[in-house]
Amino acid sequence: MYTTNRDAAFEVQVGIHELLGHGTGKLLQETSPGVYNFPHEAPPLNPLTNTPVKTFYKPNETYSTLFGALSSSYEECRAECVAMALSCDFSILHIFGFGDGNTDMHNAAGDVLYASYLSMARAGVVALEVWDPKSKKWGQAHMQARFSILQTFLDAGDGFCVIDSERAGGGGEELQDLAVRLDRSKILSHGRPAVEEYLRKLHIYKCTADIEGGRKLYEDMTRVEGDFWMKVRELVLKKKSPRKVFVQGNTVMEGEKVVLKEYEATLEGVIRSWAERGV
Ligand SMILES: [Zn+2]
Repeated sequence: MYTTNRDAAFEVQVGIHELLGHGTGKLLQETSPGVYNFPHEAPPLNPLTNTPVKTFYKPNETYSTLFGALSSSYEECRAECVAMALSCDFSILHIFGFGDGNTDMHNAAGDVLYASYLSMARAGVVALEVWDPKSKKWGQAHMQARFSILQTFLDAGDGFCVIDSERAGGGGEELQDLAVRLDRSKILSHGRPAVEEYLRKLHIYKCTADIEGGRKLYEDMTRVEGDFWMKVRELVLKKKSPRKVFVQGNTVMEGEKVVLKEYEATLEGVIRSWAERGV
């Protein structure tokens, strides 16, 4: 099921991520001294505190200057959470060509949604590959984001998502294998609300220029601690497959016939393919 649906799930995820994730949200700002793009005298309520918004961007302040080193991964995470939340909307899955728009976890759209959550959980595990235990820093914005989304799945309660290391040897031995187990029947009841709660915080901190709240949240969610994650990281590195090489074939004329010429999937193959294309 996962193998059949993961490409479709990825397409839905990327579509929502770019269009409705990065593409949405309003930053509250004093656009020039004394001029605001929101009712400054009667500020909107902050849904996290239920009190009027206190912070906003000052003139010339931007999201990336304020959030600094945090800004790109934090924003990727916001977009990924939008994708995880809205891929639960069956009318959106229908726009992408899956199902008939009715909420049904057991049709083709339900398969895509399930694959999408499995994929995200798996990506959160694999992300540890780019976490450096020496500096305790993340090397890649999207991967850091996915690790934090896996945390929200694991914290969603009722055994919604677990990382099963049963197959691993006990007592200090290294892990042999892992399985991500995610309860399909709880995606709408547990997974989606957990992601939405996380997204609400990410989004409001960004919109209100609340770098303190944003930093604390994101550092908490992407901190890698404890023996278990160290073992998982070692396993991920051990099982890492070589980077994929995309080699474009060429077509050549042999007499009257068009013949497809393919190349081996190595860097040499890539160069040969380009050289023989005569571009
Ligand atoms: Zn993005």
